[in-house]
Amino acid sequence: MDFSYTARTRDVLQQVERFMDAHIVPRIREYNDAIHAGHYPVPFMGDLRELAKSEGLWNLFLPHLKEHEPGTRLSNLEYAPIAEATGRVSWAPEVFNCNAPDTGNMELLHMFATEEQREQWLDPLLRGEFHSAFAMTEPDVASSDATNITTLIQRDGDDYVINGRKWFISNAARPDCRLFILMGKTDPNNENIHRQQSMILIPADTEGVDIVRNPTVLNHTSPEGHCEIVFRNVRVPARNLLGEEGSGFALAQARLGPGRIHHCMRSIGAAQLALELMIERSLERKTFGKHLHQHGSIAEWIAKSRIDIETARLLVLKAAWLMDNVGAKAARKEISMIKALVPTVHTTVTNRAIQVFGAMGLTPDTPLADSYTWGRALQFADGPDETHLQAIARMEIKEGQEKLGASAAYLTPPLR
Ligand SMILES: Cc1cc2nc3c(=O)[nH]c(=O)nc-3n(C[C@H](O)[C@H](O)[C@H](O)COP(=O)(O)OP(=O)(O)OC[C@H]3O[C@@H](n4cnc5c(N)ncnc54)[C@H](O)[C@@H]3O)c2cc1C
Repeated sequence: MDFSYTARTRDVLQQVERFMDAHIVPRIREYNDAIHAGHYPVPFMGDLRELAKSEGLWNLFLPHLKEHEPGTRLSNLEYAPIAEATGRVSWAPEVFNCNAPDTGNMELLHMFATEEQREQWLDPLLRGEFHSAFAMTEPDVASSDATNITTLIQRDGDDYVINGRKWFISNAARPDCRLFILMGKTDPNNENIHRQQSMILIPADTEGVDIVRNPTVLNHTSPEGHCEIVFRNVRVPARNLLGEEGSGFALAQARLGPGRIHHCMRSIGAAQLALELMIERSLERKTFGKHLHQHGSIAEWIAKSRIDIETARLLVLKAAWLMDNVGAKAARKEISMIKALVPTVHTTVTNRAIQVFGAMGLTPDTPLADSYTWGRALQFADGPDETHLQAIARMEIKEGQEKLGASAAYLTPPLR
């Protein structure tokens, strides 16, 4: 087993870190000020994206690009430490065209779009010309079970007509969000509950698409939005169907593998930054004649945070390696494991750092409060922790059933 990064990873990582140090970290204050003043998108984002693209630091997340498609073609394993580096600043992934949910949508279109759909939607997304959203969750049903969704996609002549209400649709408040990939039901009475769903491409300016609000998340307003949207008699041509009728559930599964691992990679970067901030603060501040790190409880938080981050990082790297070598389907247990583990590591480490900073940790003067909010949100986004734990348990139990009796020799009850 080789734990070292490839030469290609080291090279791109160094370039990304230099870019972050030169162009992103010095603009954190400017970004925050712009957002608080209601200037969104922030004025420099377009220029930074152009600069990153011109330096070849673009679409770092997609391994299997076609010849004409711009990007680095890194494997998932190679991309992991780079995503981690970009995860240190919440808006940095966008600079490299690597932000969710655009990445998951590009993955999905890359796998399933027709040539015409690729030209109309995927190619401009890969060039970074606009943004997109993914609309699955609904306020009226428990959406962690995607078979519950009720939005209808009904065939009418050469069109489909969509009716339903979605919420928590990330990216939808962006003025340049031009595409919704919506999951709904084309065949709600199909006996196979996993064949009732389909996905359809909806241009954001289609009549009947109504963004009704952008709810705050833990009282935090997200300028890109996690919006509630009503789709009322929204009519699109039948050629906008993604994949075939009834394939929506399978498409959602295919989309979520890469999406989940990218969230986890970035979360590790956020946790790593929180630990670094925690250590620095504990070296500077003194209470009762001691630096904070000299108090046993804080030394323990530092040590535990290092263990938490390292454990999470190794598991994410293993999941990435499996995705590259056996595919996302065969890596689904590891993907569920990291999705159930990493957001908790993100919030646990960030929470400790907030405590070490004292009351300042709760203010916008550090990135910790925002980071905590996002880590907490990730315990729901792309499926709540409990569904991942259930999936892992199911796979473990199935494996146990297949080997039933194999561990009997280890038991030594008294002979009767
Ligand atoms: C910041 C943010 C961004 C998001 N972005 C998007 C997006 O872009 N597009 C989109 O479609 N959705 C998005 N979501 C929605 C997210 O995917 C859903 O919130 C999630 O799937 C859970 O669905 P739900 O909220 O309906 O919870 P419910 O399904 O109502 O579940 C409620 C709770 O029940 C428990 N539970 C559920 N299943 C089990 C189980 N098997 N075992 C034990 N307990 C269980 C869990 O504790 C769960 O939290 C986003 C969410 C957040 C917070």
